[in-house]
Amino acid sequence: MVIGIPKEIKVQENRVALTPAGTQELVKRGHTVYIQDNAGVGSGFSNDLYLSAGAEILPTIEEIYEEAKMIIKVKEPIEPEYKLVRENQLVFTYFHFASHEPLTRAMMKSNSICLAYETVEKRGGGLPLLIPMSEVAGRMAAQKGSNYLEKPLGGKGILMGGVPGTLPAKVLILGGGVVGTQAAWMAAGLSADVTILDVSLPRMRYLSDVMPANVRTRMSNEFNIRELIPSADLIIGAVLIPGAKAPHLISKDMLKDMEKGTVLVDVAVDQGGCIETCKPTTHENPTYTIDDVLHYCVANMPGAVPYTSTVALTNATLPYAIELAEKGWQKAAVENEELAAGLNIIKGEIVYKAVAEAFDLPY
Ligand code: NAD
Repeated sequence: MVIGIPKEIKVQENRVALTPAGTQELVKRGHTVYIQDNAGVGSGFSNDLYLSAGAEILPTIEEIYEEAKMIIKVKEPIEPEYKLVRENQLVFTYFHFASHEPLTRAMMKSNSICLAYETVEKRGGGLPLLIPMSEVAGRMAAQKGSNYLEKPLGGKGILMGGVPGTLPAKVLILGGGVVGTQAAWMAAGLSADVTILDVSLPRMRYLSDVMPANVRTRMSNEFNIRELIPSADLIIGAVLIPGAKAPHLISKDMLKDMEKGTVLVDVAVDQGGCIETCKPTTHENPTYTIDDVLHYCVANMPGAVPYTSTVALTNATLPYAIELAEKGWQKAAVENEELAAGLNIIKGEIVYKAVAEAFDLPY
């Protein structure tokens, strides 16, 4: 299979869809990997590293799309890329079609095969190509929150773990899934006093078994949230209800019960946020303050750590990319239901129900 790796052109996107290590695995199996000039530089991977792994460098994005049978990307194609996608080309990337009608229509028109990372699904649930980015965002949430607790940055001026003779920061985490668990590990590692709120008792039993003693679990309900927020220093929003907007567990009126300099990091901002006053921010302008409470609501947190994010993402995508390269998309989808679930558009036809429903298109 001839595989093409274009340089991402979306603003502030420094990730790349394949590492030199991944390139070597594909080349070793007899595949050809074309990578666009300097596509890996933003993630710390030079052209030379790809060349020594067996890739060939092509100077332009047009040549990548012209030569490759399978394109592997990170972000959905943006407008200037629409016309590059060719008939019968397999495009394997994050698409998030249901929130973007022009992209959906452009990909239908291209007659390509669109296999979306975000809908590749394990039997019995679980989205293996979303987990790595949740892991990154969760760990970053504790790191960012810890930073913003510093007084000059708008926080209360409390050190996460304190020092001997002082109390550590109190960290409240709403949702104990992938993001919440990773945030808890980081906060607990810094010796903070951590409480995770969730609605799933089995999940809380699991967390209670695996977490260190400075992490507690509580049932997520309004009563407990109102009790805990006045003394919380850092609150991390990490709730997800699949297929729905995040519930506003922290309403605007609750900000008045918080102390000045409390820090809110709402990781769930990409699903509307679980804090009512949360609105999406960017890495350039990540925070704002309401009622003396600092809000950090960056919608693309993993974008700030492209090296880690690229390696984490490609660790998860590579086995699927290898299977697609070895078998072609049709055989791979027949033999692997996880990949079949990733198919969203096949040669002009929408084959993923939620995407068709989003725009009232035939399915
Ligand atoms: P997940 O499904 O692993 O975990 C969600 C958890 O929320 C589950 O444990 C669930 O039981 C819990 N939950 C549901 N309702 C709840 C409630 N009312 N109170 C408390 N807990 C509740 O999801 P995840 O992978 O951890 O993702 C969390 C959010 O982070 C998602 O919205 C995801 O899109 C987002 N995310 C954002 C970024 C970013 O850069 N901002 C990056 C990755 C993920």
